[in-house]
Amino acid sequence: MGYHILVVDDNRIMREMVGKSVRLSPLEVGEVYQAANGAEALERLGEHLIDLVLLDINMPVMNGEQFLEKLRADPVLKHTLVVVVSTESSLPRIQRLRDLGAGFIHKPFRPEELVKAVHELVAQAGRRI
Ligand SMILES: [Mg+2]
Repeated sequence: MGYHILVVDDNRIMREMVGKSVRLSPLEVGEVYQAANGAEALERLGEHLIDLVLLDINMPVMNGEQFLEKLRADPVLKHTLVVVVSTESSLPRIQRLRDLGAGFIHKPFRPEELVKAVHELVAQAGRRI
């Protein structure tokens, strides 16, 4: 069945690219959904069962960091795996996202980087999907 994935990015081309990369990666992938910002992402999470969120940081309406804070405060959704996929290079900001339990990879990324980040999160969470 694989991971049901939500790709969150305000850039449509980037969403397509990230979606393609996950399908090409050795990760077992189920459905791939898209959202253009954090608010839309929360809507998608209410509609579908999602195992993994690939999250951009800089987005209008609700950015990645605001989204992650809301996600972690939600009793049902708080354990959702999140990998931040961003051009962000501010170390304090990256650390804040890690403190909220997110993995981090720079975009553009190689498929194996994504797989490694996901496996690390799964190991941390001590669970299998
Ligand atoms: Mg962006």
